[in-house]
Amino acid sequence: MNDLKTTERRYKEHISPSMARLLKFGGFYAQEVSAEGVYIYDEKGNKYLDCSGGYGIFILGHRHPEVTAAVKDQLDKMPISSHVFFNPLQAELSERLASACGGGLDYCFICNSGTEAVEGAIKIARLATGKPTIISTTNAFHGKTMGSLSVSGREMYKNGCGPLLPETIHIPFNDAEALANAIDENTAAFLCEPIQGEGGIIVPDREHFAKVRKICDDKGILFIADEVQSGMGRTGSFLALDKFGIKPDMVLLAKGLGGGVMPIGAIVATKEVWQPFFKNPTIHTSTFGGNQLACSAAIATLKIIERDGLVERAKKMGEYFSEGLRAIKAKHEDVIADVRGAGLMLGVEMKEEGYGGSIMYEMAKSHVTAVYTLNNQKVIRFEPALIVEKEQIETALEAFENAVIRTEETLVAKRKD
Ligand code: PLP
Repeated sequence: MNDLKTTERRYKEHISPSMARLLKFGGFYAQEVSAEGVYIYDEKGNKYLDCSGGYGIFILGHRHPEVTAAVKDQLDKMPISSHVFFNPLQAELSERLASACGGGLDYCFICNSGTEAVEGAIKIARLATGKPTIISTTNAFHGKTMGSLSVSGREMYKNGCGPLLPETIHIPFNDAEALANAIDENTAAFLCEPIQGEGGIIVPDREHFAKVRKICDDKGILFIADEVQSGMGRTGSFLALDKFGIKPDMVLLAKGLGGGVMPIGAIVATKEVWQPFFKNPTIHTSTFGGNQLACSAAIATLKIIERDGLVERAKKMGEYFSEGLRAIKAKHEDVIADVRGAGLMLGVEMKEEGYGGSIMYEMAKSHVTAVYTLNNQKVIRFEPALIVEKEQIETALEAFENAVIRTEETLVAKRKD
């Protein structure tokens, strides 16, 4: 086992000195060595309650035994596809995804990550419509490869990377009128997260996506839902968009799809959108996309979510968690501005930017992981596994309230100075 100092030096010399600093001073100055259920263990055997959930990966917690068993079994048979035979697991996963997503979202492209799903969706939207422009939203996060970065909404990650994809337009989130005004004869699609994750767990108005669907239909453009973070039951419905009672033309999944065991992403779309693949099945490909190892994990994950009623569970546990957070807010209005989210995709907005980092740091001392959202550091997000128990939520709430109290004390001390 490598000791912490050696790993830290290797980070500094071979990964990034800034990353070494970020990890060291973020609160967790330790190495993760094993994980099970909702807990992560460091090299000294310390146990941490995982409420950041890998930013949405660990839908089933860490190392769900049925997912690891499926992957181990597949490892001994055939882990990676030859691409010259029919791949039964890719086919089974595609059928299961079509059934889980519903609404005529019948065709799938399996890839390896969220950003790869976004890249593929941009290409397919352009191919299917013959038009170039993709409209997305400010503060959105869609990944960091060039196409995804182009449609993401935070300048900080784009500076110095240009020229990015042309014909990308950003409109404010939750603004149907802005969408209607932005569409012209060159528009291919509107790409949007149903609930902005990295933007700060922003939930739109109830009627928003019904308006979006109507505008897209009236103007003949595609609607692509990026459910990389919000999908797979996290928000208390299989797709977060299900809550708004509408279906997109394409939906993008990743993160939780591999059950926290394998990296995998997917584009699920309607037959109309899929016409480019009908004409040319190799118009978009991926060497590792659809590999049997990742597909076996995803199939097991979908079965478990359905059998164990995890979508309903996310809703119930999410209500319990958010009630607790709201009770803490009521006691600490000077520090907390808002509590919001859906199911187990929850965010707490602090009154000031600096508080987010302080809360993370203080929670780390209580051995609970929670992280701020990438595009809005005022917001601490809680995305625990859907299998989380009430007692574990209570532990997280206690750690959070203690962190808020510590932050308040610092605030009072600063005011006195
Ligand atoms: N889309 C959304 C909504 C995300 O939250 C993320 C990652 O956080 C991505 C896309 C990119 O996914 P990945 O990191 O797997 O490339």
